[in-house]
Amino acid sequence: MNISEILIREPYMVEEIAYLLQAEDNEKAMLFEKAAQVKKAFVQNKVYFRGLIEFSNRCRKNCLYCGIRRDNVHVRRYSLTDEEILDAARFACENRYGSVVLQSGERGGDGYTKRIEHLLKKIGQLSNGGLRVTLSCGEQSYETYRRWLEAGASRYLLRIETSNPELYKKLHPNDRHHRFEMRRKSLDDLKRAGYQVGTGVMIGLPFQTYEDLANDLLFMKQFDIDMVGMGPYLEHPHTPLYAFRERLLSREDRFQLALKMIAVLRLMMKDINIAAATALQAIDPMGREKALKVGANVIMPNITPGKYRNDYTLYENKPCTDENADDCQSCLEARIAFVRHEIAYDEWGDSEHFKEREKGQGGE
Ligand code: SF4
Repeated sequence: MNISEILIREPYMVEEIAYLLQAEDNEKAMLFEKAAQVKKAFVQNKVYFRGLIEFSNRCRKNCLYCGIRRDNVHVRRYSLTDEEILDAARFACENRYGSVVLQSGERGGDGYTKRIEHLLKKIGQLSNGGLRVTLSCGEQSYETYRRWLEAGASRYLLRIETSNPELYKKLHPNDRHHRFEMRRKSLDDLKRAGYQVGTGVMIGLPFQTYEDLANDLLFMKQFDIDMVGMGPYLEHPHTPLYAFRERLLSREDRFQLALKMIAVLRLMMKDINIAAATALQAIDPMGREKALKVGANVIMPNITPGKYRNDYTLYENKPCTDENADDCQSCLEARIAFVRHEIAYDEWGDSEHFKEREKGQGGE
């Protein structure tokens, strides 16, 4: 295969994507350069901020790779109070972030649904409708998704983690709470409910092949996703998947693979929002900024109160757990300016792709 020819003939076949994901040296530089050009043409060098509020690490699930899985007894469990959540949202508003993400482990029940509904309404009031809210609260019923949308949420992030059902089985307990089909159905429900829908995968998992990753990108394209958050898989010692760490690529190779995934996705889906995942920064201090250079356009500064951040560790060596939200902001501004990008303060930064999708469905 010839990379120059592949780069100009999108849509790609699975083998072509797998080839791009293995590009090295000069070919990798060509891939990154092309992705940077496409990004500049379609979403410019703007970076949208999403203030991330990790409001609880309690979870009913037991995913085999996750540091806050239900059975990990080493975790100190916490839930922010409503006031702490609203204070964080106020911080985002005052600092002109445009959007916040409410993220937690997966919970269910009417009390949880109502609480999120209440918080969404409160955030709408305190920001005078100025903050967009993304939810990342796992698999819920269609009715719950609708209720949250009506209460003020507009985006939802639900990572498929892998689009290969067989690999999905290796990453999750074999029970009715961890079904690939349910995950897939939840994504369909979110789209039907009217959200801007985001998904993502882990990159560099044990048992994962380049073809799996290529199919992950094709899955996102076929699903016509609006936003993506994906990053390198980072092993956590208090998880069952840690037993397979000998099979992993080096951290640097996983990092490079994640950058290539972002670059190829930008070529395939030119106008979507792509987040520069915090997991990139866990490997390379400039990881998120490197991702911006090859296709990402969203950063999620952590605005969870500092005292809780050490307890939301999905993986080891999570960065910035000892900082407060102000520290994060000044640090990020300097880093983003360094890679010649501009923070889009006061902008919602809705996915251009979603706007086009809406128009196609007769929306405004
Ligand atoms: S990945 Fe999400 S659903 Fe799975 S255990 Fe972790 S927090 Fe819970």
